[in-house]
Amino acid sequence: MDQADAAAQPRSITEIASYHAHVYYDPATTRAVAEQLRLRIGERFLVRLGRWHDAKVGPHAEAMYQVSFATDQFAALVPWLMLNHGGLSILVHPNTTNPKRDHLVNPFWIGTPLPVHGEALPDEDEAEEALEPNTSPSLPA
Ligand code: ZN
Repeated sequence: MDQADAAAQPRSITEIASYHAHVYYDPATTRAVAEQLRLRIGERFLVRLGRWHDAKVGPHAEAMYQVSFATDQFAALVPWLMLNHGGLSILVHPNTTNPKRDHLVNPFWIGTPLPVHGEALPDEDEAEEALEPNTSPSLPA
């Protein structure tokens, strides 16, 4: 952020179309932890659980899967992840019209922060709406 940005009007949270939580794991040592966490998320939250990426993809420095969720899930899911990440690193970021900024400037980490390789990300794009949930929660958070 340069000084001109700092002097500008604050950004509105209406820019945020949805959120991602990227759950990182080591295929050799912590995949079982990631599997259990994924199961528990799906049992409790209306989210879209993304594919397993056992190999590094895009800007992500480790194997991971993505959890896509609507803004109305944030207040329940994110605190639950804070308490239940099981030692895994999780990157939570907003989806606005700028994926590079979303991942590099405006995210936060649960657990140990990892590098994010922002050069793999575009500066401008459409804001990503939350994908249709593929879970059927049956338990309370
Ligand atoms: Zn993402």
